[in-house]
Amino acid sequence: MRITREMLDEIAAHAREEAPNECCGMIGARDGAATSLYRARNAEASPLRYVVHPQDQFRIMERMDEHGEQLGAIYHSHTKSPAYPSQTDINLAEGWPDPLYVICSIADAEAPDVRAFAIREGGVEEVALDAA
Ligand SMILES: [Zn+2]
Repeated sequence: MRITREMLDEIAAHAREEAPNECCGMIGARDGAATSLYRARNAEASPLRYVVHPQDQFRIMERMDEHGEQLGAIYHSHTKSPAYPSQTDINLAEGWPDPLYVICSIADAEAPDVRAFAIREGGVEEVALDAA
């Protein structure tokens, strides 16, 4: 997925603001390129897991519709662990296999690590994030 450097910075900024809890949000896309970043509340308000708040999810999906965007990815942060899906993330993705999952690790505060994954049928595959 193509994404702008600004969006990656914005995800890292959101992760820092929400710490120690995980942040989450959604990325709208057109033709394989990320076009908008939408912050959401983490309904779990937890340092260990996230659930995109259902009200935010509804509102964001409407906005994407208005902008002619698809749901390209769901993002969240890991504040202490690497940017790799946890078993909890894999379980959560089971009900929603289409979007990519972007994870921002701020375990190293100086060097946020943002990676994208396809999570389908319990399998995890890293997908290149093409930052421009
Ligand atoms: Zn996670």
